[in-house]
Amino acid sequence: MDIRTVGVVGLGNMGLGMAATLVRKGFTVLGYDLSEGRRGAAEAAGVAFVPVLNDLLGRADALVFSLPYARDVEAVATAEGGLLARSDRKVVVIDTSTSDPGTTRRLAARLARAGHALLDAPVSGGPSGAAEGTLTMMIGGAEEDFALAEPVLRAMSARAVHVGPSGAGNIVKLVNNLLVAAHLVTTGEALRLSQAAGLSAEEAVAVVNTATGRSAVSEVMVPRWVVPGTFDSGFAAGLMRKDVRLALELAEESGVDLPLSAHVGRIWREAAEAIPDTADFTRMADYRHP
Ligand code: NAD
Repeated sequence: MDIRTVGVVGLGNMGLGMAATLVRKGFTVLGYDLSEGRRGAAEAAGVAFVPVLNDLLGRADALVFSLPYARDVEAVATAEGGLLARSDRKVVVIDTSTSDPGTTRRLAARLARAGHALLDAPVSGGPSGAAEGTLTMMIGGAEEDFALAEPVLRAMSARAVHVGPSGAGNIVKLVNNLLVAAHLVTTGEALRLSQAAGLSAEEAVAVVNTATGRSAVSEVMVPRWVVPGTFDSGFAAGLMRKDVRLALELAEESGVDLPLSAHVGRIWREAAEAIPDTADFTRMADYRHP
């Protein structure tokens, strides 16, 4: 079935860029956000802002969600009179939010009973990747639903990997972000050590990036947002705190003991006053502070 009209729900740092990319790639894009304040930016990008959620859910051929929490995904997917009440065609939901595999599997089963599909399709690449259509997407769900969604996935990403059944995309995203959360802590500490021992953090990181201690944090985040002190990556610390919490909940459900990761989780929780939820997540690697 042809997908011409895509509905994007959640027009924040990521969703707006994805919607704009889909417009550029030739789709008709409808957008909805709880905040009417997103209308101006959406319309400037060629997205038709729809103020009533069910209007969008009833008209789109496919849906892209970019929402903060699993509970928001659930609220939108199961909105009364929305997708579950629709029977004119099969609609595939591409959920790019960082959510948890349990919620995803439950929602995917519920939507399947109504004749629709939900793919967990979390993303990596930040707001610039969303705006440029160069995201990495990690996708869980049935092969046939992946194939159905492929034109939209291809438009939004440089790489869309079908990693396994429903929930598999969420698992790999939580694994990825647990690593990023830890790398932010360890890289910040290592650079603080360098400064304290007499070599500037800038000089140390330049060498680390040609050696074996490097990571996306040292190669991209530190030079781009930490050294210049701009801290404007477009990813909120509160969302990273959510990701660490979800990863540790997944560890508990899965019966694995991850002592260092548990400590990283404590560090993120206890930093809530110094690095509030609204601050940029790269502040965790700020080596200037003790
Ligand atoms: P954001 O806070 O900038 O945007 C979220 C948007 O969703 C907001 O505009 C908000 O008003 C809207 N919203 C909230 N609840 C809603 C609801 N029930 N219905 C409609 N709209 C609603 O967040 P973001 O940074 O764009 O992140 C979105 C998702 O993508 C999150 O799950 C995040 O973890 C994930 N993510 C973010 C990044 C990043 O770099 N920012 C990267 C990868 C993944």
